[in-house]
Amino acid sequence: MKYTSFLCMTAGITLFSMTAFSAESSLKPTPDQALKMLMDGNNRFVKEEFIHKNLAQESADLKEGQEPFAVIIGCSDSRVPPEIIFDQGPGDLFVVRDAGNVIGPIEMDSIQFAVQKLHTPIVVVLGHENCGAVHATLLGQANVPELSNIFPLIEKAIKECKETKGDLLKNAIQCNVKEGTRNLKAQPNIAQLIKQNKLKVIGAYFNFDDGKVSIIE
Ligand SMILES: [Zn+2]
Repeated sequence: MKYTSFLCMTAGITLFSMTAFSAESSLKPTPDQALKMLMDGNNRFVKEEFIHKNLAQESADLKEGQEPFAVIIGCSDSRVPPEIIFDQGPGDLFVVRDAGNVIGPIEMDSIQFAVQKLHTPIVVVLGHENCGAVHATLLGQANVPELSNIFPLIEKAIKECKETKGDLLKNAIQCNVKEGTRNLKAQPNIAQLIKQNKLKVIGAYFNFDDGKVSIIE
């Protein structure tokens, strides 16, 4: 359910109209509230206590516009669908996915659209356990000729991590996420929004065994 709709309903107010682009409304969740909404949703996923039962109606209610509270840059991996692992409905998440959750020019445009036009208060770069794209990159480009545009981005991101002690693949996946958040925070407009406490950019990691998403510090 949309955050503003929830607030308006609880206040006994009906939302008469919405525009295609959301206003920078005071009803928007703060970055910290948005993070809590995501983590609460992941907790429901873990417990299999899903709250979205009427997806078609929720979708129909959003015909006039969207006001997603989070941007997720996730891997295309079929096992890690953001709306499901965060138990969110239509209109909640602005999702950008590619193999290896990398941020190239096209992904950056999509993220900037959400941040600038929809005023989304949180951006999450979401990596996951056993990422095939990162694993393939560790094995070398000859192993994945089809990832010709993605390979250099992951390779650059994981360079330093190859020397880190511990699980090589897990370290590389986390380094790849950190490169994504670093890249985002280096964008002047994003840095400014963070400084103004209007935006949070975080990295996160999905674990298959327990279904939990943990924050990457
Ligand atoms: Zn992956």
